[in-house]
Amino acid sequence: MHTYQMYINGQGCDPISGTWFDSMDPYTGECWASIPRGNADDVEMAVDAAHKAFESEAWCGLTATARGKMVKKFGKILLDNAEKLAAIEVRDNGKLYTEVVNQCRYMTEWFEYYGGLADKVEGAVPPIDKPNVLNYTRYEPLGVCACITPWNSPLLLLAWKLAPALAAGNTVVIKPSEYTSASTIELAKLSELAGFPPGVINVVTGYSSEVGEPLVAHKKVKKIAFTGGEEGGRKVNIAGAADFKKVTLELGGKSANIVFDDADLDQALNGVISGIFAASGQTCIAGSRLLLQDSIHDEFVDRLVEIAKTAQLGNPMSEDTQIAPIATEPQYRKILAYIDIAKAEGARCVLGGGPGEAAGKHQGLFVLPTIFVDVNNGMRIAQEEVFGPVLSVIRFKDEAEAIAIANDVDYGLAAGVWSKSLDRAINVSERLQAGTVWVNTYRSTSYTSPFGGYKSSGLGRENGQEAIKDYLQVKSIWLHTGEVTKNPYARR
Ligand code: NAD
Repeated sequence: MHTYQMYINGQGCDPISGTWFDSMDPYTGECWASIPRGNADDVEMAVDAAHKAFESEAWCGLTATARGKMVKKFGKILLDNAEKLAAIEVRDNGKLYTEVVNQCRYMTEWFEYYGGLADKVEGAVPPIDKPNVLNYTRYEPLGVCACITPWNSPLLLLAWKLAPALAAGNTVVIKPSEYTSASTIELAKLSELAGFPPGVINVVTGYSSEVGEPLVAHKKVKKIAFTGGEEGGRKVNIAGAADFKKVTLELGGKSANIVFDDADLDQALNGVISGIFAASGQTCIAGSRLLLQDSIHDEFVDRLVEIAKTAQLGNPMSEDTQIAPIATEPQYRKILAYIDIAKAEGARCVLGGGPGEAAGKHQGLFVLPTIFVDVNNGMRIAQEEVFGPVLSVIRFKDEAEAIAIANDVDYGLAAGVWSKSLDRAINVSERLQAGTVWVNTYRSTSYTSPFGGYKSSGLGRENGQEAIKDYLQVKSIWLHTGEVTKNPYARR
């Protein structure tokens, strides 16, 4: 068992409560690490450290260029440590090492990109409709930012927040998921090597009620960047509103993957499988509703089942494994409950439909790749986020019906369109209510392209140039350049 410490003001520290909780390896079922159980007092210490760091000459005295270089250096250090960080993350959330290590290598690009942007966010000199005045604007950091992350991709999703927050000149208090805290603590410790002053990056671990809630309610926190479920997102948004904090929310999804009869079906099959079964379906962008045009429905389902049933369940560290365990026990139970709900609603299970078993001796939380047909879009299995390897297949007749079904859901995170017709691809993409639409591909994201949700899938965008503005505020400065004003009572 490894006993972790939180990371506050540039040093490891034990929780004020003096208590730790266990982190379980979802593949072996064994507890492998002790995680500090933080509370409001630890939050107070971390926010105080972050606030002091924000005002310190060592941080706010840096030029944007120097700050950007530090952010980029941090990215290089993370790249050097990608394998180590990935192995820790796999122990916590059980995801395939091959995917996690690629994520850990890729996340360094966020630090390179936003580090480079640090000295390129330019203010303006607006032409003013008055004589003898110079007006200019500048972008300034907000202060302490709370970065709250889920368990499915803890480090990558942290990088989406941390890189722009730091490049903009803020300081951060990170609250990782209680299920996957270890890799975030390790990442924070590495920040010392990049030269960040103490207090710029802090991590407080623990439960949402004991750490997350006091953090988002703290007066000195000026911005909340949250990735998680709809329920948590709603509470965070309400808490943030009390003090007019800036809030960005990356929430859940129920994304439609739409296959038209003029699609390249081999390509579509691969996209549908990776869309729902990669990461055992535990991704916000999972293509969990497969919309199939009538004329190809039966053939496509047969071929899908043939491929999906060959998936190897097993050790996430092994390159041969295709389906890893579910990350947490509550999530495992939730997925199985949704499978029962779907059966009770009258959906027909053509693959899987229950717990799975992997080769070898272990207690892993496996769920079989599961496919339901005869799903109607009003069923709960078509409307609610399962966050597991469970696919709902829905028929449609034509473009108009496909678009209507795809949009008939509270979520709006992503969608896929499979068609060889350029006209159709463009028309359908533009009418889908989703923050990301992929055409003849699925599951791509990049630091250069905005990502976020329509409707209940979130507020604001991460990634891309604009995202850094969510960590900045604009100030307008007026300089009088003429003679003394004659009438001091008149508005200028
Ligand atoms: P969750 O909402 O339970 O928890 C996410 C994080 O928020 C955790 O650190 C948790 O402790 C904290 N938290 C929860 N309620 C809080 C509150 N009231 N105040 C402060 N902090 C709070 O989500 P989860 O189960 O860890 O993650 C799965 C969810 O995340 C899914 O719904 C998934 O779709 C979503 N997700 C979204 C994206 C995206 O980019 N849109 C990416 C990954 C995951």
